[in-house]
Amino acid sequence: MNQVYPWRDAPAARFAVIGDPVSHSLSPKMQNAVLQELGEPGEYIAIQVPEAEVGKALDHLSSLGFEGINVTVPNKSAARQWCERVSEFASAAEAVNTIALQGREGNNTDGPGFLETISQFPGRRATVLGAGGSARAIVLSLSAAGYEVRLWNRTEARAHELAAVIPGVVVLAEPTVADADIVINATSASLTGAVLELDWAAADPEAVAYDLMYSSEPTAFLAAAGSRPKLDGRAMLVAQGALAMEFWLGRPVPREPMRRAVGL
Ligand code: NAP
Repeated sequence: MNQVYPWRDAPAARFAVIGDPVSHSLSPKMQNAVLQELGEPGEYIAIQVPEAEVGKALDHLSSLGFEGINVTVPNKSAARQWCERVSEFASAAEAVNTIALQGREGNNTDGPGFLETISQFPGRRATVLGAGGSARAIVLSLSAAGYEVRLWNRTEARAHELAAVIPGVVVLAEPTVADADIVINATSASLTGAVLELDWAAADPEAVAYDLMYSSEPTAFLAAAGSRPKLDGRAMLVAQGALAMEFWLGRPVPREPMRRAVGL
C-alpha cells in the first residue's frame, strides 16, 4: 500500500498519480524505480482526488510545481476537461491518463501502451470483452493498428455505441473466445471476483489471454485460459507508465526496472 495524500495536504513533488481510491496503485513504486535508474531527481507520489474535485486539485498541484500527473479511475474524463490541449488519441478515447501539468497538455498512453505489450504476438484477430473506458482506448488502438476487432459487453447497447464510432468493429451477442488470436478482458469483473462464462475449449490453443486487471494471484479469467500465453494488467501498467515518463522527460525510458518493480 502507498502512502496516500489527500490533495490539499500533498507535499510538493515532481510527479504523481491521482485517483480515488489510489492506495493500491503500483505506479509510485514503478516510477520511482525508473527515476532512480535514470538518475533523475524528484519523487513520484500517490494523491487521492475525488472525481468532483479534479479541476481544483490539478490547479493546486500545478501551483505546487508538479511536472507530470498520471490519472487513474475515475478521473480520466474530468482530467480531459481540465486540459487546454489534448492529443488526438486522448480526444478520441475521451480520456486523459497523462498530463504535462505546466502546459495543461493531456495525453493518453493506455492505448499505445497496450499495443506495445502485444507487438510480439502474431495474429490479427482480437476479441475485446468490455466496453468501458479502457476498452474504448484498446479498441481504438487495435483498430488503428489493423486488427480485426470483435467486441462483447454485458450491456450490449454500450458495445454498439462504441462500435458505431470505430469502423469495422463487430459486436458479439455472447462472450466467446473462439476464432481469436488474442482475447482481452477489459471488464472489471475480476475486481469483484465475478467470473465470465467462457468456453476456452473452443479457443485456439495459441490464443493469448490478456486480463487488464492486475493482482498478486492469477485472475479467474487467466486461470481458465489454461496453458495458453498470458498477460496481466502489469504489462500494460509498465508500458503506459514508460510512455508517460517519456512524454514528460523527453528521453527514452527503460522498461526493465519498471517490470522488476511490479514483479514481472
Ligand atoms: P469501466 O469504465 O468502469 O468499465 C467496466 C466494464 O466492465 C464495463 O464494460 C462493464 O460492463 C464491465 N463489467 C463490470 N462488471 C462486470 C461483470 N460482472 N461481468 C461482465 N462485465 C462486467 O472500467 P475500466 O476503467 O474500463 O477498467 C476495466 C478494467 O481494466 C479494470 O479491471 C481495471 O482495473 C483495468 N485497467 C487496467 C489498466 C492497466 O494499466 N493495467 C488500465 C486501465 C484499466 P457494463 O457496461 O455492462 O457495466
